[in-house]
Amino acid sequence: MIKKLLFTPGPTPIPPEALLAMAQPIDYHRSDAAVTLIKDVLEKLKHVFQTENDVLFLTSSGTGAMEGAVANLLAREDKVIVIRSGKFGERWSEICTAYGIEVLPIDVTWGASVEPEAVEALLTEHPDVKAIFATLCETSTGALHDIEALAGLTRVRPTLLVVDAVSALAADDLQMDNWGVDVVVSCSQKGLMTPPGLAFAALNQRAWDAVTCSDLPKYYFDFRKAHQSGLEGSVPYTPAVTLLAALQCALNRLCAEGIRNTIARHNRLAVATRSAIKALGFSLFAASPANTLTSIRLPSEIDGKAFINLMRDTYGVTYAGGQSQLSGKIVRIAHLGWMDENDVVVAISAFERGLHAIGYEVPLGAGVTAAQEVFRKEN
Ligand code: PMP
Repeated sequence: MIKKLLFTPGPTPIPPEALLAMAQPIDYHRSDAAVTLIKDVLEKLKHVFQTENDVLFLTSSGTGAMEGAVANLLAREDKVIVIRSGKFGERWSEICTAYGIEVLPIDVTWGASVEPEAVEALLTEHPDVKAIFATLCETSTGALHDIEALAGLTRVRPTLLVVDAVSALAADDLQMDNWGVDVVVSCSQKGLMTPPGLAFAALNQRAWDAVTCSDLPKYYFDFRKAHQSGLEGSVPYTPAVTLLAALQCALNRLCAEGIRNTIARHNRLAVATRSAIKALGFSLFAASPANTLTSIRLPSEIDGKAFINLMRDTYGVTYAGGQSQLSGKIVRIAHLGWMDENDVVVAISAFERGLHAIGYEVPLGAGVTAAQEVFRKEN
């Protein structure tokens, strides 16, 4: 018998009460119960987004909210800066290009994080840039970007800061209001501990002002419609009611824990994982690693793809592999969402065991000991 364990940066494990909520008879989305549910979910999301701005939701994966941000904020003649430090930064520029927007890319070596000075220099050269598109945690590399520093640049300029917090919301700190971030997008299947299928966006007043000037085509992802409906506990189109019911349960957990504690928990899990990986003689791929996941650089003698498959098929443990140019070269272990210290111990001990199985010698237990030491010191 194999027990499946998920350590991927989305989807993430779902708490039992959220699973049970999805097994309940479905509500009509125009019923009073659905109105109450939608209003409650949107209110609780504000806590997780660390904002007083309204949060809107779309029935899509996270990319839908990214596309919506581009289509709703920009106008045909706009030019934007896109920070590309991995697959998801590249996605911002692909979406902008698909809408005919001129992109000024800042290409960052995969695994590194953007230097705010480079952004400032480009902004100074192009003061008419409408928006900067950035990523809180670049999931393909595990790197965290200094969004607070970027917001320091945009807050004092007319340029908007749009942040993809798809993977990092609730795991890495993102103080939308305190830092002055204009737009944050995210989705359900990561820190929010809900299955895939819901996307979210929060916009401040500066961003809503830009929406009124946008002339790009949009229909299903029209933020104004989603926003207005959401305020009334309604939706323009049939929503994934079942997922909203699960999300409500997950949000109840997050609100009870409190966002600061949630982020601190993720940090503890990340610090322990990093310590374990180093104790096993591996190095981290990201120079500034996020709390969301840990990317491990593999020595050339390990075939990363075969290792991931072995772990999944033999031990039931799913880690994520490398994407695009990193395929086979890194392993990504997420400690995201409904995770605690024991999950890290399991993820690391399975990692050690898998390495032994492929004949790569590591001192068994060294990673687990290092993780336990972190937990012991912190408790
Ligand atoms: N941005 C980031 C940072 C992500 O991690 C992901 C998903 N891994 C996405 C965007 C895309 O989200 P989705 O697959 O839900 O469309």
